[in-house]
Amino acid sequence: MTGVLSPQSPNRLLDGLDPEQRAAASAPRGPVCVLAGAGTGKTRTITHRIAHLVRSGHVSAGQVLAVTFTTRAAGEMRTRLRGLGVDAAQALTFHAAARRQLRYFWPRVVGDRPWDLLENKLRYVGQAANRAKLGTEVEVLRDLASEIEWAKASLISPDDYPAVTARAQRDIPAPAAQVAEVYRTYEELKNAAQVLDFDDLLLHTTAVLEEHGTVAEEFRDRYRCFVVDEYQDVTPLQQRLLDAWLGGRDDLTVVGDANQTIYSFGGASPRPLLEFTRRYPDATVVRLERDYRSTPEVVALANRVIGAARGRPAGSRLKLIGQRPPGPEPRFAEFDDEAVEAGAVARRVRELLDGGVSASEIAILYRINAQSEAYESALADAGIPYLVRGGERFFNRTEVRQAMSALRAASGDGSSDLVTTVRSVLARVGLTESPPAGGAAKERWDALLAIVELAEELASTVADADLPRFCAELDQRAAAQHPPTVEGVTLASLHAAKGLEWDAVFLVGLSEGTMPILHADGDEAAIEEERRLFYVGVTRAREHLWLSWALARTPGARRNRRRSRFLYGLVPEDHPAARVARSAQQKAAPVKTARCRLCGGPLLETLDIKLGRCGRCPSTVDEGLLERLKSWRADRARELKVPAFVVFTDATLMAIAEQRPADEAALVSISGIGATKLERFGAEILGVVRASTGS
Ligand code: ATP
Ligand code: MG
Repeated sequence: MTGVLSPQSPNRLLDGLDPEQRAAASAPRGPVCVLAGAGTGKTRTITHRIAHLVRSGHVSAGQVLAVTFTTRAAGEMRTRLRGLGVDAAQALTFHAAARRQLRYFWPRVVGDRPWDLLENKLRYVGQAANRAKLGTEVEVLRDLASEIEWAKASLISPDDYPAVTARAQRDIPAPAAQVAEVYRTYEELKNAAQVLDFDDLLLHTTAVLEEHGTVAEEFRDRYRCFVVDEYQDVTPLQQRLLDAWLGGRDDLTVVGDANQTIYSFGGASPRPLLEFTRRYPDATVVRLERDYRSTPEVVALANRVIGAARGRPAGSRLKLIGQRPPGPEPRFAEFDDEAVEAGAVARRVRELLDGGVSASEIAILYRINAQSEAYESALADAGIPYLVRGGERFFNRTEVRQAMSALRAASGDGSSDLVTTVRSVLARVGLTESPPAGGAAKERWDALLAIVELAEELASTVADADLPRFCAELDQRAAAQHPPTVEGVTLASLHAAKGLEWDAVFLVGLSEGTMPILHADGDEAAIEEERRLFYVGVTRAREHLWLSWALARTPGARRNRRRSRFLYGLVPEDHPAARVARSAQQKAAPVKTARCRLCGGPLLETLDIKLGRCGRCPSTVDEGLLERLKSWRADRARELKVPAFVVFTDATLMAIAEQRPADEAALVSISGIGATKLERFGAEILGVVRASTGS
């Protein structure tokens, strides 16, 4: 079978689309916006649109640039484009596209001086933090690094940083002046070393296009048609680059789902998506509601998850309508500890495998990468193959590099069958007939086999693929860090799962403090982002969906965890955990004050709400108590290995020191203290307050 359609069939190409999808795919050149929920075929629509524009002669494949946000999603797009016979269209992440362009234009704009990419910025951030007299523990540096990334993605300079963050009432990892100083020094150190970080790739490419007319002209002549997937997560920096690419033209197709915005913390915003028609009043706008990915059971759950979201912007309130035949009900499960949870997941994976689901169609998704360990060992114990997303990069592995150079060297060999040639070349670098017993040798063998499988895949989609063609494919994948699919269960973070789909999805570790993550507690915007992340997880499943949580981390530890607030109302009434949930829910709904506790006037500013006092009324802060609270916080942060502001922000401590809450009810009415923090720290905080007021 060949996936390539005959070149003269632009209309047959659109047969696989529903009427709305077809309207978007076949719209004439010019601005198009698809606003639609998960699984409704957005990615499918844009790949078909590209193929359609190419087939009908509006643009040549090489003039198309399609961008998205994760390497895996870009890879997925490329595979789909190839299936539609448009190999030459570029599908890349913003970063990969910018990197390529910068490399190309660099000699002309800067000269012969080469540049290197800084893979890990912590070293320079560490030096900068040291000079600014800030802590240099790894957690502190990580927070500073992501704050710098946020500022760069948001186009905020070190000089502007203090004012902008003050205006936005942003929770920041250290006093603004110090963060700005670290940011400034970091940039100086990096420039002195002549290295670029990832954000510089975008910044420099944008600057080159904005400032060098001839370069911009050449670029714009080369690329004429732009497509952005997952547009809800565009940052101001990426938008600026996109504008530089367009250079005033309007041949732009964007697709996205505001309900899947999961990178706000990194500076992304769904606004450009939602306001697309304001910018392009003539745009073709299409909304899709039919969910082709998931069973009605999964779709119903997804609708409830996102239906509970607060403050959804207009234009994002779409309800998904499941198109697939019915399937199994989602399963909910509660466990005593994480090891038991992981063991149960591994057993269920085994059942699915025995039932005919293939391992690569199963994913275990979690909130933070540290959660993968328990699942790695449970799957290994059960003898189930798995691969961790974000693990060692496939194309950086020694045997893969050896294999690629061997293949390149053999490129001149004339042989008829691609797969046989690849096999025989790889035999020279260690691909034996049957796999070695296990361990590192088996891993190396698996990697080589994955290359053979890529060759098989290419041979089955492109009829006359030869070795040079295959080498080009490998180079392209390596440049885009797009590893082949290895047969195994996927372990990935929810963030990395965006845009992807599996037959069976396990959402694990759904307890308060993990999902939503602890530092989101008490901050409504952050909680909503966590909810969207959970929604992204639920909507990855085609058929089997499992949701579980554990009451303790390690065996024998106190079972003091609570399941995620996002599960309230989702767990069926007759489920043993439902009763516990109802009482927990009552506790979790804090009474929030929105009036000044001194003059009774309304509170509108975030900081005022946090303090429970308007700016006109005098501060009643107990300075001694504030100091004691800060030192308590420092101890706790050290113990939990998190930065202090994750425990409580300065504003929250200030509010406590002003209001001196006497009991839980008073404490929970302070903004910034949600159910999880109440449970974890409530008694201690009340203790500090009591000791202070009693003395
Ligand atoms: P996400 O928001 O998660 O990125 P999406 O809107 O991009 O989702 P796709 O990945 O394009 O959705 O499509 C989801 C699944 O539904 C895919 O397997 C796709 O092939 C299938 N699909 C989409 N449209 C149709 C259709 N008209 N007929 C049949 N299958 C379809
Ligand atoms: Mg998609």
